[in-house]
Amino acid sequence: MAKNNRKARRAWAAARKKHIKRGCITILEYLHDHDCGIYSAERICTCNPDRVLKDDKGRVLARIEGAGFYDPLELAEGA
Ligand SMILES: [Zn+2]
Repeated sequence: MAKNNRKARRAWAAARKKHIKRGCITILEYLHDHDCGIYSAERICTCNPDRVLKDDKGRVLARIEGAGFYDPLELAEGA
């Protein structure tokens, strides 16, 4: 699972790099399970959310599944 996870995370990073451009509005969505810990007081993701990139019209640009727990640092690490 760890290997697939890494591959999906790389795909997510690549999708962000491809679609997120200066001056354009891009929406990042994390589709958490309803019982995910992100909705608890701890606010720590315990599910495996799909990551979705949308443009300002709400059109889906990319959808990455299986990249593991949501980690706020993933947007900074670039990989
Ligand atoms: Zn979650």
